[in-house]
Amino acid sequence: MSMTMGLKAKLGLDVFKPGKEAHIKIKPGMEKDPRLKRAVLVCPAGLYSENKAGEIEFTVDGCLECGTCRIACGTEVLDWGYPEGDTGVQYRFG
Ligand code: SF4
Repeated sequence: MSMTMGLKAKLGLDVFKPGKEAHIKIKPGMEKDPRLKRAVLVCPAGLYSENKAGEIEFTVDGCLECGTCRIACGTEVLDWGYPEGDTGVQYRFG
């Protein structure tokens, strides 16, 4: 692997196997909570974004299961768990 590979290219090497349900969800009614905006800044996979209405949107596809959003935002706004067995991220090349 080249030492000059960008983050997106490196993340693209990982394999993600989806589960039946998302293992992380924004709790209903919390989409505009200011604590969620932290996830936009800290998620290393860039899975959180803020829409024009000021709501935080999230897709679990590509989640690295690092737990950063859980620590940054807290479980009052996020329903956070690990994926069921045999699903989720499979890291490649470390
Ligand atoms: S666990 Fe990590 S990669 Fe997954 S959504 Fe949270 S911050 Fe992003």
